[in-house]
Amino acid sequence: MITADIHTHSSFSTDSDSPMEEMIETAIKHGLKTYCVTEHYDLGHHIYDHKGEEGYSYGDMSREEVSALFVCDCESYVKKHAQLKEKYRDDIELLLGIEVGMQEDLCDKFLALVKKYPFDFVIGSAHEVGGMDPYYAKFLRGRTQKEAFRFYFEGTLRLAKACSPVFDTLAHPDYGLRYHHSEDFVFDYADYADILDELLKFLIENKKALECNTGSFSYFKDDNQPIAQILSRYAQLGGSLVTIGSDAHTPDAVARHFEQAEKLLSSCGIKGYCIFRNRQLFTQNF
Ligand SMILES: [Zn+2]
Ligand SMILES: [Zn+2]
Repeated sequence: MITADIHTHSSFSTDSDSPMEEMIETAIKHGLKTYCVTEHYDLGHHIYDHKGEEGYSYGDMSREEVSALFVCDCESYVKKHAQLKEKYRDDIELLLGIEVGMQEDLCDKFLALVKKYPFDFVIGSAHEVGGMDPYYAKFLRGRTQKEAFRFYFEGTLRLAKACSPVFDTLAHPDYGLRYHHSEDFVFDYADYADILDELLKFLIENKKALECNTGSFSYFKDDNQPIAQILSRYAQLGGSLVTIGSDAHTPDAVARHFEQAEKLLSSCGIKGYCIFRNRQLFTQNF
């Protein structure tokens, strides 16, 4: 049974309005033993408007202000987290985490950040490759879906290598086409095996975990889960360090699809999952 949700957000992340306390209370209601808040820290992130133009047009905001939109205010976040950790200490283990949106040239800044605060857990995310977040439909323009995924995986590999000292787990490896694949798109690992094998071997050799982001289950059809094929291959290559997180931005998404995740991981030969405390790895069987 999975009793830890270690990838979640609250209103300290730009894309969530949910108070941290409400998220924690939901986790307690779900019977979770461990809950980690991992707010967004996407330094240097480019933001585009809905027409796909870069976000200089966000009112009177400067380029710097727009870029800072997804950088959480760590001072306030860490302070609030410490208060709630104390308040709920008899009910749940509350861990302090951060989700870093990796950028190849900003590794030093991320390292300074993770040393400055007492984080238990750092998630490395490829939210942006080639200067654009695949969240925007423009990411696909001029590319087939297969080409877009390849482009994303190549970027993820570069980012994971550049930022490897920063993170403990690599988040949502199938993020690249979460939002804009067509209904009939079929993911076949073999199409990207050269890049993905290199990425998975890099994680295994460097003792980095791979995330099973259960939010991904909402974006692809059950029989066409990129994450399933990636996790299967990871296990086949000898990988065993998997972290599990709902990526909840609202209370209703806390611990979502955990039963499905456990079934999937077990069928891939993964016997449990990992938790990080004070950046140290702990393993837990299902
Ligand atoms: Zn993310
Ligand atoms: Zn997230």
